[in-house]
Amino acid sequence: MAVPSHANATASKLIVCVIDAMAPAPLERAVSDGSVPTLAALIERGRYVNQCAAAFPSVTPVCAASIMTGVGPDRHGIPGMNWYDRASARYVEYGSSLRASQRFGIAGQLTDTVYNLNQVHLSPSALTVFEALDDAGIRTAGTTYLVYRGRYRHEPRRDGWLTRLASPFARHPVLGPREFFYADIFASQPAPCSSILGMPGIRDRHSGCVGEYLLEHDLADFLLLSLPDNDWYSHKHGPDAQVHSLARADLQLARVADAVGGLDALLEDFAVVVLGDHAHAAVDTSVDLVGALSELGVAGPRQPSDGAAIAVCPSQRAAMVYMLDPMTRDSVRQRVVGSALGLVGVDLACWLEFDAHDRPVAAAVAAASGAQLRFAPGEDVHDLRGGGWSVDGEIDAFEMVVRDGVVHSPRYPDGFARVWSALMCEHAGDVLLSAASGYEFLDWGGQAHGGGGSHGSLEAQDSLTGLIMCGVQPPASEPGQWAIRDVAPIVANHFGIDLPSVPAAQGAV
Ligand SMILES: [Zn+2]
Repeated sequence: MAVPSHANATASKLIVCVIDAMAPAPLERAVSDGSVPTLAALIERGRYVNQCAAAFPSVTPVCAASIMTGVGPDRHGIPGMNWYDRASARYVEYGSSLRASQRFGIAGQLTDTVYNLNQVHLSPSALTVFEALDDAGIRTAGTTYLVYRGRYRHEPRRDGWLTRLASPFARHPVLGPREFFYADIFASQPAPCSSILGMPGIRDRHSGCVGEYLLEHDLADFLLLSLPDNDWYSHKHGPDAQVHSLARADLQLARVADAVGGLDALLEDFAVVVLGDHAHAAVDTSVDLVGALSELGVAGPRQPSDGAAIAVCPSQRAAMVYMLDPMTRDSVRQRVVGSALGLVGVDLACWLEFDAHDRPVAAAVAAASGAQLRFAPGEDVHDLRGGGWSVDGEIDAFEMVVRDGVVHSPRYPDGFARVWSALMCEHAGDVLLSAASGYEFLDWGGQAHGGGGSHGSLEAQDSLTGLIMCGVQPPASEPGQWAIRDVAPIVANHFGIDLPSVPAAQGAV
């Protein structure tokens, strides 16, 4: 679809709006039934892509880091919703559920999510769009978002009872965008907005209120507007119900536009990009991976991991397993892969293979059917984004099609690059699992979303989100497969700056 002339390609400012978990099918239904008039207008005036690939695992922390840095987990370092930090021999939990957080300790979970994710876990060499734009003197602003690292120092708020309630967990300053709002903990301006400490269902309103204030007062050239409630609603009611929660997100987007006189006036000054970070799949059955692997000796959530052979990290429809003893890594890995693929509900197991010098040489993927595939960067085939791969194994069994040297996988979009990047992440487990359709891994709190929606897997249904671009220039050479990591370069390009290329973590080839 060409960009119609009434989309203002010269708007100097930019809003990137992330609607968590926005799935293309309910979005398109909401557009046609008239319940998302702002999104419909942006699609009509701009460009809509309905197959924009998430990162893998397709969960929010991993995807938020990819959106904000333009790179995959091999370069940004965030591997999942829950992961095992080998350096400090403990689990990191970003908030799979309240009960999971309670198992690990609420204070530790909040510290990991609010502070460590940005300050410690996110690779310092992966520049965020906030950091790049701050360096260029562009006025950045952000509403509550998991990845916020920028160049401006912000002290936690001390006013108000909500803030005092959060204060035991939020005493320290952070580096964020120039204008920074995060739940009720950080607020760089006296905007009359409250998120009731990030309560589901309230968070979109908080973002809309902050966005309205920032635009009314002309405080932002670049605004990251995060609308997270769609994910919560879709987890609870299933992906079809997103028609309702997308309509509520649309109201907040309209509210921000109204701050400057409506959408037409907004688009005079602002280009607007709207995307989901991943999508959602309907789930009805859960897989107790921790229980199934318990006989191998699983590190517990609080006790030191002495004597445990493995750490198990469910991330909704993905999971990671870490081998804790390097001497027995390969033999334990084989047992883990065998046990996991024997469980009903596990679709794929992925791991790296190493040479005699312990350098990774290939990724191996095994399916529940027994089919196996090995691949590594090479030149046998190219994917839709131009990446080259050497491939060995039963490619047909993974529903991958090779035509004229180009590999395409409708079932596992951008599959090679996403699996490779996930496995090469320095914080990733030794074995990555992807759940079968309809299944989800129980988290450490024993929670899942049976009867609702979930995400995390390599499958298209969780992985392909919507991307709306209105008033921005698409990349000069358009990708054959769009991905959420295309957004950061689009932002940089809009402001005429370069995002430096990010080196892979040590040990990556
Ligand atoms: Zn979610």
